[in-house]
Amino acid sequence: MADERLLDIQGVSKRFGGFDALTEVSVHVNAGERFGLIGPNGSGKTTLINCVSGTLPCDGGRVVFDGSDITATPSYKRARMGLVRSFQIPKPFISMTVLENLCIPLEYAAHYKSHHGLHIRTEAEEILQLVGLDGEADAKPGGLTQIGMRKLELARALAARPKLLILDEAMAGLSSSEVDEIIEMLIDLNGRGITIIMIEHIMRAVMSFSQRIAVLDAGEKIAEGAPDEVVADPKVERAYLGA
Ligand code: ADP
Ligand code: MG
Repeated sequence: MADERLLDIQGVSKRFGGFDALTEVSVHVNAGERFGLIGPNGSGKTTLINCVSGTLPCDGGRVVFDGSDITATPSYKRARMGLVRSFQIPKPFISMTVLENLCIPLEYAAHYKSHHGLHIRTEAEEILQLVGLDGEADAKPGGLTQIGMRKLELARALAARPKLLILDEAMAGLSSSEVDEIIEMLIDLNGRGITIIMIEHIMRAVMSFSQRIAVLDAGEKIAEGAPDEVVADPKVERAYLGA
């Protein structure tokens, strides 16, 4: 059976003034896949995700999600279609409890997907359990540990009911055992049917998580393939040594 493309990035370019941040980048992610996006600092990873999520308009190329061309679709509509991203810097509502933080995106998603008789609170509790934050439901985000904060960011993304979850450095600042804990959680979420793109500096994490990896360098895709093939690629080694 041919792989079904959930996300198809076709020749996307992005300029900032005279600077080419992305040059005709093409990458696809199959439904159900765990995909890694890597590259040295400043190589264009976050810019590509901004173009995919609609935070930034593309200057060239197309983005197709779940069979629809979304190149010109506003980001809130992309989210409603199931294309959900987390931010490098967590942005919880600090005056609300952990549980209340999930009710907002859940109510938003429920409104547009007309879930009748949906129990937002129950669903929020289920998501907190999934990420292991059920003991912190009534805490304020400010009282969470670093990993707690990362889990809350993940929970908030899950509350938007993603088909595709894009995580931009969602494990920054965590210890190696905490990284392992998050990876285990993400593999479990993937097993529940969520396609995941992981953007990460922690090479060990991307390698163990991803089934396929793409590498950006100076705004261009220089490699794509299985993790072991990609790290053995001299172009990739050169890009990292040069960084
Ligand atoms: P990465 O996420 O791979 O570290 P980014 O996508 O954040 O890289 O940045 C790629 C390049 O584009 C960098 O040189 C960065 O300085 C530049 N850049 C990113 N966003 C903007 C912006 N809004 N305006 C101008 N330059 C930007
Ligand atoms: Mg980045």
